[in-house]
Amino acid sequence: MDRSITSVPTTDQLPVVVVGAGPIGLAAAAHLIERGLEPLVLEAGPSAGAAVRDWSHVRLFSPWGEVVDPAAEKLLAPTGWVRPDSPTPSRASTWSA
Ligand SMILES: Cc1cc2nc3c(=O)[nH]c(=O)nc-3n(C[C@H](O)[C@H](O)[C@H](O)COP(=O)(O)OP(=O)(O)OC[C@H]3O[C@@H](n4cnc5c(N)ncnc54)[C@H](O)[C@@H]3O)c2cc1C
Repeated sequence: MDRSITSVPTTDQLPVVVVGAGPIGLAAAAHLIERGLEPLVLEAGPSAGAAVRDWSHVRLFSPWGEVVDPAAEKLLAPTGWVRPDSPTPSRASTWSA
């Protein structure tokens, strides 16, 4: 039986889907956009960061630089978003805002 592959689809012919708009999904989407791809981000919750919003009252232990991906930060810059002065997001609600 001939098992040779005659046609291999290239990634630019396929849609890229990111499942979940949590911190990791959003960072993945930002990296895809940086590479010229337009991802479709699917989120089961009512908004991006839905899981983090569930514990929005909790104080974070990580500094901003560790919870905001550089690719996302670059993408947000033209919107006027700048990393807040505070070393750490005070609460999860600040992070998911
Ligand atoms: C109380 C608490 C405090 C924390 N503090 C810190 C901290 O200070 N610093 C730190 O670095 N980390 C902290 N973490 C961990 C951090 O929140 C997680 O590492 C991070 O949220 C993981 O991101 P994620 O995108 O992988 O998952 P999630 O944040 O869980 O996001 C997943 C998203 O995918 C969606 N989803 C799930 N299933 C589907 C589906 N089938 N289809 C579509 N959408 C779907 C969910 O609704 C959700 O929005 C903390 C976690 C908790 C619980």
